[in-house]
Amino acid sequence: MQSKVSSLWELSSPGRRVVQTPSSDVPKAELPAQLARKEDADLPEVSELDLIRHYTRLSTLNYSIDTRFYPLGSCTMKYNPRINEQTARMAGFAASHPYTPVQMVQGNLELMYSLQQGLGELSGFDSVSLQPAAGAQGELTGVLMIKKYHQSRGDTGRTHFLIPDSAHGTNPASVAMAGFTALEVSSDKRGNIDLDHLKSLCDSSIAGIMITNPNTLGLFEENILEVLQTVHDCGGLVYGDGANLNAIMGIVKPGELGFDVMHFNLHKTFSTPHGGGGPGAGPVGAGGALRDFLPGPIATLSSNGQYELVQPKKSIGRLKTFYGNFGVLVRAYTYLLSQGGSGLRESSENAVLSANYLMGLVKDILPPWYDRACMHEFVSSGENLPDGIHTMDLAKRLIDYGFHPPTVYFPLIVPEALMVEPTETESVETLDAFAAVLREIVKESKVNPELLHDAPHQELVSRLDEVMAVRKPILKNPKSS
Ligand SMILES: *Cc1c(COP(=O)(O)O)cnc(C)c1O
Repeated sequence: MQSKVSSLWELSSPGRRVVQTPSSDVPKAELPAQLARKEDADLPEVSELDLIRHYTRLSTLNYSIDTRFYPLGSCTMKYNPRINEQTARMAGFAASHPYTPVQMVQGNLELMYSLQQGLGELSGFDSVSLQPAAGAQGELTGVLMIKKYHQSRGDTGRTHFLIPDSAHGTNPASVAMAGFTALEVSSDKRGNIDLDHLKSLCDSSIAGIMITNPNTLGLFEENILEVLQTVHDCGGLVYGDGANLNAIMGIVKPGELGFDVMHFNLHKTFSTPHGGGGPGAGPVGAGGALRDFLPGPIATLSSNGQYELVQPKKSIGRLKTFYGNFGVLVRAYTYLLSQGGSGLRESSENAVLSANYLMGLVKDILPPWYDRACMHEFVSSGENLPDGIHTMDLAKRLIDYGFHPPTVYFPLIVPEALMVEPTETESVETLDAFAAVLREIVKESKVNPELLHDAPHQELVSRLDEVMAVRKPILKNPKSS
């Protein structure tokens, strides 16, 4: 597809410069011949104004939460308060060198310690490590901890890990990376883990289960206590995929429910920008015997009032260099403080309210796959769209109306899935406008299906081959080889 944005090389004209250097007032030194270029570098020659316009234009081509509604299910694209950015840029945080002796960065360690405490309080876990760089790395961390826990007790026959069929793709990938075989657990008619199936799978070969609660269907596991009991009874441990914490902050603590270890997606729940894929942070909390296996270093407060970095006794080691993604930690801690305990609870309550409100508005045209109240997101099916129209067509047409499409075709167990997560930071007017547009598009799908098949129409590129765009992206000047 032809791009309508000129590259800098196309704008280039010989002799144009952004910077005019003054003529030299020192004698010229000769460069050794073997170091000198044989020919000029292929660099575009443009004016300062051309350059500014080029990059400013490019910056507006990215879709972002700062410009429009971004209801991408499972991703929690909430507003990122600007105060997070202000604190993350404070010189003491942003400019401290990772090798600075801990006595000289006590403030940074205090922030880590306080964030660990806050996350522990919110989730009901005794101990938190801030090391992992993302949710998926948190999963790997927790599964490695569970593996080492079983090994430390001489319990070496546990080779399988249970994963519900609604799970995020990173879940089976993480257990496979840790050397386990993933075993799928079915969902029942209400979108919960099927207890009978779970019971039939639980035996002494099970190392544990990875559970997302609320699950990726946006539903709270109604039998969560029985699920945990069943797995614990056969000697397995329970890993919590905490990506959906935004639905339950201040309402229920996974650690108190009986989860053994869980990650937080700071970039989702605690409002740090992640639209471009990072950087993120996936701290892991653990209770009971598992806490000794956490990766370090963990910030601790010693009896003399000094903060120290400590490696837990039976630690699985390190997951990341130095302190993890420290800038993300500063943003998340700022969010935690600025919301406060009651504010976090209110965020979750409003996230759930928004999702149920929006689900109600579109129920008749896009029925939720499970007819239940949802948590912070809901999953509808596009099965009832006219013949030849798929969820993907509807999603792409939304772009023409200025909305980012919801997640589509996930979870895999819902045909023609459309997964919508509005978050608590959107106004009721935005939710109304989005529902009205969905209604309009469904109408279009009946009278003018081609409009949907060819969408989006207004963007720089229309329907992309998404696989090729990821596998073989064109990232360089097409004119230079
Ligand atoms: C986002 C997400 C993950 C993975 O988290 P990353 O931070 O992207 O690695 C895992 N599970 C669920 C349910 C998620 O939504």
